[in-house]
Amino acid sequence: MPHDHAHHHHHPDPAALEGDARVGWAVAVNIALTLVQIVAGVLSGSLALIADAVHNLSDALSLVIAFVARRIARRPADAGMTFGYGRAEVVAALINYTTLIVIALMLASEGVQRLFDPQPVAGWTVVIVAGVALVIDLVTALLIFRMSRDSMNMRAAFLHNLADAMGSVAVIVAGVLILLYDWRLVDPVVTLGISAYILWHAGTEIGPVIRLLMMGSPASPGVHDVADLIRRVPGVADVHHLHLWRMQEHEVALEAHVVLSDAEQRPEQLRAEIKRTLDEVFSLTHATLELESPGQACTDAPLIGHHSTSTKT
Ligand SMILES: [Zn+2]
Ligand SMILES: [Zn+2]
Ligand SMILES: [Zn+2]
Repeated sequence: MPHDHAHHHHHPDPAALEGDARVGWAVAVNIALTLVQIVAGVLSGSLALIADAVHNLSDALSLVIAFVARRIARRPADAGMTFGYGRAEVVAALINYTTLIVIALMLASEGVQRLFDPQPVAGWTVVIVAGVALVIDLVTALLIFRMSRDSMNMRAAFLHNLADAMGSVAVIVAGVLILLYDWRLVDPVVTLGISAYILWHAGTEIGPVIRLLMMGSPASPGVHDVADLIRRVPGVADVHHLHLWRMQEHEVALEAHVVLSDAEQRPEQLRAEIKRTLDEVFSLTHATLELESPGQACTDAPLIGHHSTSTKT
């Protein structure tokens, strides 16, 4: 049986590589800043400063993880990993968001304890360190903004960085309130705000990652649109046992049984026609089709997936 998988591989263009170097610098500066923030947070007794630092660190590390995972993802498929290494990025994202959620919960619980037992905070240290963090946040955002014109990911990264800068602003305000009024409660309040922001962000991002790992169908094309398209190809009687999933974010794969309407027609011609149509309409190039003659089709087969008791897979 001839095999005609026409995968579309996405290689990074030179502009993206140039971006890699700039992102590398941004990561290095942000990690250094994080270490300074954590030390200052411990010395000054400010939990809010540590919360802001943890967020910055996780942002920097997520870029490092994504970078390393992308290198692993480029490896070709081998005998041990027949689907290739593309999902390294998805696994990395799952680890990253899970860690972030755990850390945010720890910060929130410490913050709640301090609501009832506010600690003294060295206001000046907080204001100065958070001020430096704000400047670095804004410079990073500006750097990313200049690369964000033609990339949706980069635009999202820019908006994220801008929101992060607001975290540093909140910490500065807290420091000022402590200096002016010795209002210690503001530190745990800002900590809880930053924890909530981290939880909201990681919570919304982790859903799609889990869906991808669980072989969820893509948002588009829809399963029923694909089934309808196959049914409309002349010579097709019906389609069943359909699986539609994504190998990676933009790589949709299809597996289905197709029943021929006429036992006389040549199945290889029909298969080529269905694949051509799928590619043309949905740019769906990874399709594995099992063709069944009218008399020998599966009986009582559902359109989507299969009965767990079925002997067919
Ligand atoms: Zn962030
Ligand atoms: Zn079948
Ligand atoms: Zn199956």
